[in-house]
Amino acid sequence: MKNGTVTVLGSATSMGVPTIGCDCAVCHSTDPKDRRTRPSVMIEWGEHRIVIDSGPDFREQAVRECIKRLDAVLYTHGHADHILGLDDLRPLTYPWVTGGEKLPLYARAETANVLRSVFKYVFDDNYKYGGLAQVELNEISDPFDLLDLHVVPVPVMHGDAEIIGYRLGRFAYLTDFSVIPESSFALLDGVDVVFLDALRHHPHPTHSTVENSINIARRIGANQTYFTHISHDLAHEATNKTLPDGIRLSYDGLRIEIELGS
Ligand SMILES: [Zn+2]
Ligand SMILES: [Zn+2]
Repeated sequence: MKNGTVTVLGSATSMGVPTIGCDCAVCHSTDPKDRRTRPSVMIEWGEHRIVIDSGPDFREQAVRECIKRLDAVLYTHGHADHILGLDDLRPLTYPWVTGGEKLPLYARAETANVLRSVFKYVFDDNYKYGGLAQVELNEISDPFDLLDLHVVPVPVMHGDAEIIGYRLGRFAYLTDFSVIPESSFALLDGVDVVFLDALRHHPHPTHSTVENSINIARRIGANQTYFTHISHDLAHEATNKTLPDGIRLSYDGLRIEIELGS
């Protein structure tokens, strides 16, 4: 069994917690676990390290976790809170860091198109000003092999949009969904650690609630479920006390052992 770790780079919803200008108790909490940066995780095994999404807080997260090298970035979808840190990948794409290879990015076609349009200059062969992230964008649809890892995209509904989470061995990361289609539950059979979107208690058109995600967690039946994409409605400590055994809010810096396959 190939063992690895997942580190939560960020556990917040799109606006981050604290949210700009907000006077609520969570935004003014002194509990460090109530300070949440935009959602992302880092997976490490052996000599390898990848991240899922690179949002607007990527620089701060990478400095905090002392990331000096990356093998790849996997994208879930093209929303700003998941992609805006692409430019801050630059120092991790220097040739003396990568050995001269471009840093591979993986995304479905719709997400790849968003990346090419938002970061037009990065993908412009005629760009004259230098200093670009040296990245190579790979479009994916089906499961694929990355290094010695088998990567399974897991389709989820984010409101009306179909986006993807990822399954790696017995670990799955599903951020930004309101509904998990039946066919995707089959892809989650046997996972041991799963991350699920749980924005808040009140319904939202494109995100899951705590209550909905508790039901989903029970159905998936993983030993450990962690919630992410958390809004300022949920205080870490108080919310955790209300959650069933085996289900907890994640927090920035949380690190968990995972099984990444055989
Ligand atoms: Zn998001
Ligand atoms: Zn989103």
